[in-house]
Parts: sequence; C-alpha cells; structure tokens
Amino acid sequence: MCRHLAYVGEPVRLADLLLTPPHSLLRQSWAPRDMRGGGTVNADGYGIGWYAGDPEPVRLRRVGPMWTDAALPGLAGSVTTGGVLAAVRSATVGMPVVETACAPFTAGPWLFSHNGLVRGWPSSVAGLAGRLPVTDLLLMDAPTDAALLWLLLRARLTAGEEPAGAVASVVTEVAAAAPDSRLNLLLTNGSTIVGTAWTHALWVRARPGAAVVASEPYDEDPSWREVPDGHLVTATPSSVDIIEVGAR
Ligand code: GLN
Repeated sequence: MCRHLAYVGEPVRLADLLLTPPHSLLRQSWAPRDMRGGGTVNADGYGIGWYAGDPEPVRLRRVGPMWTDAALPGLAGSVTTGGVLAAVRSATVGMPVVETACAPFTAGPWLFSHNGLVRGWPSSVAGLAGRLPVTDLLLMDAPTDAALLWLLLRARLTAGEEPAGAVASVVTEVAAAAPDSRLNLLLTNGSTIVGTAWTHALWVRARPGAAVVASEPYDEDPSWREVPDGHLVTATPSSVDIIEVGAR
C-alpha cells in the first residue's frame, strides 16, 4: 500500500518534511512500518505537489523508486512551501507502473492521493464510472482505481460540493459498490487537508501553525494521533476535526 503525506502551515523546506526526518516519506519508500499485508516497499514511483504562490500547485511525478532520483535532494533542499501533498507508490497488482498513475493527481487548486485499492476493479465501479462525462474518462491520467477515484471526487468538487462532504460521499459510494475496498484518501488545496482512514493507517499531527496528515508518523513527536478507522479528518494550521464517515 502506498504511503502519503499532506502538510499545511508555516513554510517548510521540502527536504525537511520529506527526506530528513527519521521516518520520512523517503524512508517509508523502502522501509515502511505498517503496510498491513499490502506489499512491502513503495518503489513504483513517487510524486510531490506543492504551492508556490499561485492557487494552482506545482507537481512533480516520477516512475521508479524515490530513493533513485538523484535530482530530488537538490530540488527538495531548495523549495520552501506552506502546502504539500506527497506520495510513494506500491502499484496494486494488475495496475500499470507508469508516471501518470503516481499521486498526486491535480486539477485547479487541488492535490489528491489514494492509499489502498478498489476491490473487484474495474467491474465493481463501472456503474459509478458510467455516470461521469465520457471526456473525463477518455482523459483519465491512467487506467487505475486511484485515477478513477480522483475523477469521481473532482466531479463533486467542480459541482461546488464542500471538500469534506465530497470526500465522504465518494468513500461511501465506492465502499457500497466495492465492499472491502481500502480507501485512504488525501485531498488538499494548500490551506486545508481532508483525509480518510478506511482500512488503513492514517495519523494527524497538529501543532500551532502547522498540520500534517500522513500514513505513518515521520518522527517521535508525541502529538501524532491516529485517525480511527472509518473516520474523516479535516486539518488546518489551527484546527483538527475528526468525524465518523460510516460503518464499513
Ligand atoms: N491502487 C492504487 C494504485 O495502484 C494505490 C496503491 C497503494 O495504495 N498501494 O495506484
């Protein structure tokens, strides 16, 4: 299962967030602690999206292990930002290992990532996909469950739904169509993070001035809190709100 992380708050260097902490996302790419039977390493690609002044984020995606990208330390050491969504990927069996299947997915101000899998892919969710505009499906980033989840969520956001409500309804709808799916989602616009814990690990760390939501804590800070399964977290630099999405 992939590992992902979102940050909003005081400006931070990408390297200090993603590479140098003791259990950083970089380390989680080769030594994750809590994969719960969903693979062993996250070596099928990585992606980082960050906000650099414009409402639309900058996005970098690469196929292959994060630790093999020799350009990354220099880049991450020279970028300082107040909003980030990054992920390392362990491709679900049967899904393509390509750059465009790596999170984060993006549109407008949004960055999105999925940790998990849709059971019975693709037939279990064909009915939900069939309600989307055909052009959205033709232009899907990659033929993967994560890319379809992004289309389903993006359609709701574009229609003006609130982020937390949109994420909750996508999870509920997909879980009903494809029971036993693993649907840990992360969404941010650079100032708020929405995440779900749905049969996989998710943690939140809130300190004055910054919030982080991540698959695994990246340091020993005692303020990390686990998000209970079946719950949705909304985090900003000054607030954390955790609500139940529904029974799985
Ligand atoms: N199913 C998604 C993919 O293949 C996410 C994989 C994961 O969480 N390991 O991209």
